[in-house]
Parts: sequence; C-alpha cells; structure tokens
Amino acid sequence: MARKRYLLTPGPTPVPPEVLAAMAEPVIHHRSPDFKRVLAEARVHLRDVFRTRNEVLVFTASGTGAFESALVNLLSPGERVLAVSCGEFGERWQAMASALGCEVVPLAYAWGEAPRAPDLGRALSESGTEVVLLVHSETSTGVVCDLRSLLGVCREAGAISIVDAVSSLGAVPLETDEWGADVVVTGSQKALMTPPGLSFASVSDAAWARTARATLPRFYWDWQRARKQQESDNTPFTPATSTLVALNVALRQLLDEGLDAAFARHAALGRACRAGIKAMGLELYSPDDDSAAVLTGALTPDGVDAVELRLALRDRHGITIAGGHGDLVGRLFRIGHIGYVDRYDIVTALAAVEAQLVEMGAEVERGVAVAAATDAFEAAVRA
Ligand code: PLP
Repeated sequence: MARKRYLLTPGPTPVPPEVLAAMAEPVIHHRSPDFKRVLAEARVHLRDVFRTRNEVLVFTASGTGAFESALVNLLSPGERVLAVSCGEFGERWQAMASALGCEVVPLAYAWGEAPRAPDLGRALSESGTEVVLLVHSETSTGVVCDLRSLLGVCREAGAISIVDAVSSLGAVPLETDEWGADVVVTGSQKALMTPPGLSFASVSDAAWARTARATLPRFYWDWQRARKQQESDNTPFTPATSTLVALNVALRQLLDEGLDAAFARHAALGRACRAGIKAMGLELYSPDDDSAAVLTGALTPDGVDAVELRLALRDRHGITIAGGHGDLVGRLFRIGHIGYVDRYDIVTALAAVEAQLVEMGAEVERGVAVAAATDAFEAAVRA
C-alpha cells in the first residue's frame, strides 16, 4: 500500500478532500467573471470568519507577508512601535519592525509566559507608542493570550493594534469587531484548512485613517491599491486563483460546522491531547488549561531525544509533528490540533508517540494515552 501520512503540525495542517479536489479544477483567469464570483464569495465568508464588518484584504503570500503589509501601511521610518513577545513569532515581528527602520519598544516575556494587560497598559503610557503588535496564539509555545483584555488596553490608550492570528483564527474565539482589533492577520494553512499560499488582513476604519500618514515604502503590499481593486472583486496582481477556489470550499465547511462548534471541537481536542500526554507521565510544555486549544507541547522523558522521536514518527509511522527550539530542541515536541482534525487524529498521534517512546526505552505503559485521550474527548463533548 502507498504510505499513508498524517500531518499533525501546528501548520500547515491537513486539508479536507473536498478542498483538495477544488485545487484540481481547471485554472481560471483572474480577470474573468468566474474569478470575480470566487473573490466575492471569499470576501463575504472571510468577514464572517473574522467576525468583522471591515474589508478583509487578500494577499498571495504567507502570513508573514500579510503581517509585513500591516507594518508598512501603518508605520513611518523611525517611528516607535510597541511589540509584545513571548515566543518565536512575537520576536519575529520585533525583528521585522527593526529591519523596516522602526524603533521597537519591546514588551518581552519569557517563552511560555502569557502577556498581561496591566503590563501593556504601563508600557503604553510610559512609551506613548501609537501602534502595538500582538500575537494571539504563540505557536512556538502553545500560549494563547487573553487578547480581549490586551485589546481593551490598546483601545483605552487610543493605540492601533496589529494582531497576529495566524494560528488562532478559526480555532479559538476571536471577535474582531466586538473586541476592537484594528488589524487581524492570518494565513490559509492553519485553521482555515487550505494549502499554504494566501494570507489575509482585516483593517478597521481607524487603521485606514492611519495609512494616509504612514510613509514606509510599499508597492506589492499597498493596502489602498488592494482595497480599490478588491471593492470590484479584483486583485492588483495575479493571485493564487486555485487556492482561493479551494479556500471558499474550506470556509463553507467551517461556517457550516459553525464557528462556535469549531472552537468547542478545538478545546475538546486540546483536552484529549493533554490527557494522553499526562497519562504517559510526560510533562506538558504548553499550558494545562483550555486556552491551549491550538497545539499541545510536551517534553520527552529523560534520555529520549525529541528530534530522534520526531524523525522516527515521521519515517517509521508516517506521522509528522513539530519540534522545539533553542535549549528545548532535544526535549520539546508539539502536536497540532488545528483545522481539519478530529479525535482519531489525536489518538493516532498519541498511539504512535507511545509505541515509539517504549521502543526508545522510556517507561511508558502501553495503551494509557489512547484511553485517557478518548475519555477526555468524550467528557468534553458531553459537557
Ligand atoms: N505567526 C504565527 C503565530 C505562526 O504560527 C506562523 C506560522 O507558523 C506565522 C506567524 C508565520 O506564518 P507564515 O509561515 O505563513 O509566514
């Protein structure tokens, strides 16, 4: 039999067969009525998924590209920007803002910590910065911050917020308009259940007003140009047309499930995965609560190298999970439960981790993870 593969990283994520089939349809021209219909549908559904009335701009780029678009449309050379970090992606946005010539005012936490609203309030009033960079779900650690409170502080201070929701949008609650997020950025390849290649940015009226005085250079990323075209269901440049066709199928599936039902499913998957990890006697690295609905991070037992574990899972079991970083590269592994994932994906991953750990000499009782995960999932859906 051809090798069966399981993709359980926190992005890219597995894609439903109907979405993959849509990718295989004949390519349409981007200056045609067919494409206008595709973009018109995507614009409506993206607004629903972002829970916003604002325009959601569509870019042919990864999430990093859409995030860069936010910086170059909202900031000017030398301008100060408050950038909150507690992991790899927060640090990436600090580096990006510096590379673009802005002055970064960091609010930096240790990896694995969650940012706190009172700290942000203090940092904003001390620095007087007008733009804040936030990461909703820090994929390197599994921490999902209390975005609602952080946005409340930004609003009170009159600061424009730019939110990295690349691994959170569609997986955990994010109320763009109700919580007052100015800019929310995500990508196609995580909870939106579509192959990589598209990214999105919703833009509030206050953010639009700021673009007029922001002077960082921009061309491909120019929001005004993108909005003008998008309003007539066009794009300024050649978009990833097939990926957009597929995105519409995925968004229909997500909205048919219902966003709230999808959030509950992600929370239940998180509970199941944590229960399985703990039943094996492993230490969790991601938080041990329902905020950790996007991914589960765990440390290998003493004497087991996480890189070896991951490679054996990939090469012997066909299961791809993610690794760790820095000092934790030899200990940390991360299982994603974002998007097109159900309980049996989690059970499969845990069964393979368990079998492989036993083979690598760890003292793990066979079968405990699968039973614990199944029970936790059942309890979560009954609750
Ligand atoms: N931000 C977060 C939280 C992510 O998880 C990722 C991707 O893993 C990114 C940003 C970067 O997105 P991309 O790889 O699509 O540029």
